[in-house]
Amino acid sequence: MTQHLMKVSNLPVFLTNALQQEDYIVHDHAHIIDPEALTKVTALVGTGSESKVDKKLLSMLPNVKLIALCGVGYDGIEMDAIQERGIVVTHTPGTMTADVADLALGLMLAVGRRIPQADHFLRNGDWAMEPFAMTRRVSGKRVGILGLGRIGRAIAKRAEAFEMTVAYCGRTPKADVPYAFHADVASLADAVDFLVVATPGGAQTKHLVNADVLQKLGPKGFLINIARASVVDQAALVQALKDKTIAGAGLDVFWDEPRVPAELRSLTQVVLTPHIGSHTEETRRDMADLTMANLRAFYVQEALPTPVPECRPDSASA
Ligand code: NAP
Repeated sequence: MTQHLMKVSNLPVFLTNALQQEDYIVHDHAHIIDPEALTKVTALVGTGSESKVDKKLLSMLPNVKLIALCGVGYDGIEMDAIQERGIVVTHTPGTMTADVADLALGLMLAVGRRIPQADHFLRNGDWAMEPFAMTRRVSGKRVGILGLGRIGRAIAKRAEAFEMTVAYCGRTPKADVPYAFHADVASLADAVDFLVVATPGGAQTKHLVNADVLQKLGPKGFLINIARASVVDQAALVQALKDKTIAGAGLDVFWDEPRVPAELRSLTQVVLTPHIGSHTEETRRDMADLTMANLRAFYVQEALPTPVPECRPDSASA
C-alpha cells in the first residue's frame, strides 16, 4: 500500500531518490492546501538539523505515528508533544561519527596552523614579499571534549594519534576511558588548548559555553564547534574573538543557518565551514539507508532499528 509522508525540511538527494524508488508519496508541508491530504500522512521525514516539529504542526496531522529523521540530532522536535501523542522518533546515530570527528580534527589543524589563511596568503602573491607569520604546534596539545558520546570519543581517538592529552566534560564520568573528567565546562576550558563541543543541542545544553568559559579557555585557546550552535553563546563568542580573549574558533554550525553574521565572517582568526560534518557521499548514503530501514520497519510493524533514546522500548519515558 502506498504510504503518505510529509517532509519537514529539505531532504538529502539519496533519501529523495530512495523514497521515490519505494513509491512513498512525499508531501511538502509548505505546499499542502488540501486538508484531506493531511489526514493521509502517517509519518514525517526530515533532517536532524533542520526539522522543527511542535504541537501546532502535529495538531494538523492526526494520523502521524512516526518521525523518521535523517541525522543524529533531534533538538528541533518537541519531545513532550510527540510523547503525549505516542509518536515515535527515529534517527541515524553512528552513521556520521567518523566524518564529523574527521572535520573536528580538520578544524583544529586549520585554525591552529592557519591553513586557509596561508592558502589565501599564497594565492594573493604575498609570499614573494614576506614569509607567512609563524603559528603554534597542534600536536601534543591538550584537548577538552564537551560531550564524550559517539562523536566525542571518535575525536578523542584521533587526538590521541596527534599525541594530545584528552580530557572531557559531561553529565556523568565514563568508567571505560582513561581521560580526565571535569564536572563543569569552565574547569575543562581552563585545563585545555582546544575546547571541542560535541553535545546535542536543545534547552539542556543551551549556552553551556558562555563568556566565563571562553575567559577560562584564554588567549591561547581555540573553540571548535561541530555539534550545535545553541551550545555556545553567540554574542559572547563574537566578543571574545574581537577582544582576543580566545585565540580563535573553528565552527561548522551557526545560529541561523545558512545565515552567518557578517561580524563573524570578517574575523581572520576563525575557520568557518557550512555545516558539512556529515557531508560525504558515503555517510549521506548510509544515513538515507538507515532512514529507509526505519520507515520500512514501521510500516511492516517490526522493531525500529534506531529510535531515539526517549522512544526506545526500554526507556523509562517510552
Ligand atoms: P551522543 O552519542 O548522544 O553523544 C552526546 C554526548 O553529549 C553524550 O555522551 C552526553 O554525555 C553528552 N551530553 C548530553 N547532554 C549533556 C549536557 N547537558 N552536558 C554535557 N554533556 C552532555 O551523540 P553523537 O552521535 O556523539 O552526536 C553529538 C551531536 O553532534 C548531535 O546531537 C548533533 O547535534 C551533532 N552533530 C553534528 C553534525 C554536523 O554535521 N556538524 C553531524 C552529526 C551530529 P553524558 O551522558 O555523559 O552527559
